[in-house]
Amino acid sequence: MSDTLHTLTDTPVNCNLEIAKNNILVPGRILNKLRLGAFQRNTRFGNCHRRVHTKYLGMTSETNKPFTLSKSSTIEDFEAANKASTDQLKVSKPEILEISGKGQSPHTLWIGCSDSRVNECTVLGCVPGEIFTVRNIGNVVTTGDLACISAIQFAIESLKVKRVVVCGHTDCGGMWGALSSNKANGPLDNWLLPVRNVRLEHLDELDAITDGPQKNAKLSELNVLHSVEVVRRHPSFVKAHRESGVEVYGLLYDVKTGYLKQVSSAGEAARKIEEVFDLGGK
Ligand SMILES: [Zn+2]
Repeated sequence: MSDTLHTLTDTPVNCNLEIAKNNILVPGRILNKLRLGAFQRNTRFGNCHRRVHTKYLGMTSETNKPFTLSKSSTIEDFEAANKASTDQLKVSKPEILEISGKGQSPHTLWIGCSDSRVNECTVLGCVPGEIFTVRNIGNVVTTGDLACISAIQFAIESLKVKRVVVCGHTDCGGMWGALSSNKANGPLDNWLLPVRNVRLEHLDELDAITDGPQKNAKLSELNVLHSVEVVRRHPSFVKAHRESGVEVYGLLYDVKTGYLKQVSSAGEAARKIEEVFDLGGK
């Protein structure tokens, strides 16, 4: 059975759909009323041969369960998934889209990894309008990355976020790359150079860890701390920290447990940065 345009049934469907208060009962399936729009979009009432994209109806196909879309999804699948998701948001948080339409005032800048398992809104349960985001492979922050340092400036100076979060995670592909002696033979090698340098700085500590996933997690922590230090040197952060108490935090997300933990730099290292970059006063 395909995991894409999954066929609810290609055999004649009983046209007598039993509509309950909140659910629509289709032979063998129950559709939540909130998802009816997507259902209607992908079925042809009056024609008993109906093909239904089941995934974004919350009834993911057997082969791609429990995901919403798949590698074979079409752009129409994306449109339908968007409609179903938005319709759900309108019910659960009916004021959000009206607020979004008037502008944004996020409270947090999130700098995270591009990894598909570590979406900031999913991790925190936040809704649109709360978090300004930069994501790249390995949540790397360097002064040479215009995209990231510009985002930091914009988030702090224009959006007036109150905190910056740098979030790494366990089982990070960027960390695996930096721990490997194999080259990616492309720009990825250059991109991961800062992470490889972090590994070099802490080589003895990392080499003492024999368990691969634990070593990955440790490098991820160290890399988060390195990125936090770069944020702390950013001119916009230095000024905002001194004047209005904007803070930066390092976090590590465990992809197995789903929980975050705080990653703190050694006191001496933080003290030196504060001394050199005048971060002590407000
Ligand atoms: Zn990652």
